[in-house]
Amino acid sequence: MRQRYLIALGSNQRHHRHGPPERVLAAALDALAQAGMKVEAAAPLIRSAPIGPSLRRYANGAVLVTSELMPDELLAVVKDIERQFGRRPGGQRWASRVLDLDIALWSGGAWSSPDLTVPHAAFRNRDFVLGPAAALAPRWRDPLTGLSLRQLKARLTRRARIRKRAVR
Ligand code: AMP
Repeated sequence: MRQRYLIALGSNQRHHRHGPPERVLAAALDALAQAGMKVEAAAPLIRSAPIGPSLRRYANGAVLVTSELMPDELLAVVKDIERQFGRRPGGQRWASRVLDLDIALWSGGAWSSPDLTVPHAAFRNRDFVLGPAAALAPRWRDPLTGLSLRQLKARLTRRARIRKRAVR
């Protein structure tokens, strides 16, 4: 059965062959297609500030893909692509990375296994994921909160505004 996924992409390092982060993400889309995913749509890329100790800015994006693969099979593909792009497994959590691919949402709803949680545990709090994701599929509902991507994005923006006001 055909599954639908929303995958979030991030890069904050040059790749020796592909070049700067934006090019890395473009090459990652090709790699997903080569691995048999049907890329239905890709959001315009954005730049976001780094989180944690890394100082390099990120390029972020999101893609909608369809595939016959179940989530754990897709995770294996995604990890393989990350490895192809030179990401060292087991590196520091927030270290600079050439390519990070996260499975944000799955058409089947929630998935939980020792290696994989879908929806991705942090995606509701990450502007750099929700921005591109909501641009792609604003009406896609998070199975846990019941909120659409558009609503989740608006909620996060509201919370950030309240926090900003509180520190003024
Ligand atoms: P990260 O450092 O964010 O790339 O996380 C890496 C690990 O998180 C992967 O090796 C996965 O086993 C695990 N993981 C759990 N949930 C997800 C998800 N929704 N998408 C991608 N990786 C996930």
